[in-house]
Amino acid sequence: MALATTETPAAVDFGPASALSCRECGTRYDLGPSFACLECFGPLEIAYEFGRVTREQIAAGPTSVWRYRDLLPVPADVAAKPNLAPGWTKLVKADNLARELGLRSLHIKDDSGNPTHSFKDRVVAIALEAARNFGFHTLSCSSTGNLAGAVTAAAARAGLSACVFIPADLEEAKIVMASVYGGKLVGIEGTYDDVNRFCSELIGDPLGDKWGFVNVNLRPYYAEGSKTLAYEIAEQLGWRLPEQIVIPVASGSQLTKIDKGFRELVKLGLVEDTPVKIFGAQAAGCSPVSTAFKAGHDVVQPVKPNTIAKSLAIGNPADGPYVLDIARRTGGAIEDVDDTEVVDAIRLLARTEGIFGETAGGVTVGVLRKLVAQGALDPDAETVVLNTGDGLKTLDAVAAHARPAAVIRPSLEAFRTAVADA
Ligand SMILES: *Cc1c(COP(=O)(O)O)cnc(C)c1O
Ligand SMILES: [Zn+2]
Repeated sequence: MALATTETPAAVDFGPASALSCRECGTRYDLGPSFACLECFGPLEIAYEFGRVTREQIAAGPTSVWRYRDLLPVPADVAAKPNLAPGWTKLVKADNLARELGLRSLHIKDDSGNPTHSFKDRVVAIALEAARNFGFHTLSCSSTGNLAGAVTAAAARAGLSACVFIPADLEEAKIVMASVYGGKLVGIEGTYDDVNRFCSELIGDPLGDKWGFVNVNLRPYYAEGSKTLAYEIAEQLGWRLPEQIVIPVASGSQLTKIDKGFRELVKLGLVEDTPVKIFGAQAAGCSPVSTAFKAGHDVVQPVKPNTIAKSLAIGNPADGPYVLDIARRTGGAIEDVDDTEVVDAIRLLARTEGIFGETAGGVTVGVLRKLVAQGALDPDAETVVLNTGDGLKTLDAVAAHARPAAVIRPSLEAFRTAVADA
């Protein structure tokens, strides 16, 4: 007797998420693979009906983003599925860097410790669950580098196909990382914004059918992953909000969702409602949001990026206006630093704390330093700064400054002459 298998699609399960809701006009939609409001083209966000969530319940969970599964659009059994279980990265008390900058209390949230060495593993983990829920067979994205590697790695582990798109001129390490996990890596001749436009076209084409583009048609789900940074920082500070935080800005999604995460913790009674000033960091060579902030504008003018901080090189940031709102509402600011300051800041962080960040980390620490010097940051307030990626991915940025003191024959004589007496 032949076995007839009737394929019943698995029930869609987004845990506490209840709907998609337009950020601009509030129109609600069923949870589906959509990202823009049909009424006003505003971005869609996840809306929730949270149950009771306690600190104890969270603390008893896994040491990954899944300890916050009751606050994310994922099924309750998510930790049992094959995924990379990112998150729960270190919050390092950075006394040496604090002393050097004249700050009383500084912590570094070090996301280089994630499975593919950048913060992108957080957002991809949530998008992967959405892709599974919608029955997509291929995971895709437009990427400035780190996202491509996070997507191909997550797809490999989950047993999905991957096809990811990057600007062709990325750093060697990011190209290697995005390829090594299998799947297809495609370089596009153009900027990230060209890559992103191409992906939007692909979504409407039969070629892209059943594809989950994590940062396009799965963007509402993807974006929620950044909330876990807010949850972790608050929990690791002993269930308190920091007074000031400095966050890198590419599309602005991360900054926007960290703010959302802090506010959810307050609403759920998990932390006290204390003010957090939110600061954004950009590279001068791609600083459309800081330019708008300084000019007092609400509209972000697109730019053509030219900076070594390629992971932040988004010239037309989707969440730019929301980043402006949040910085202004919380009493923060958006600032930028040039490439020389980025390299100096990478070296400063490495030399003071033993943390080697990628160029995005250099941007963020560089902006931290600049804001302190300007008096925009309160030196007595509890401050957190993010390092969102690993310096091994952007070696070229510092290679010229990080060479051996000497290359010598293995003799004491040679050492004395070349190094000890120098
Ligand atoms: C993607 C990325 C960010 C922030 O991106 P948003 O688009 O603003 O969410 C920050 N740092 C690194 C290293 C990244 O790869
Ligand atoms: Zn709308």
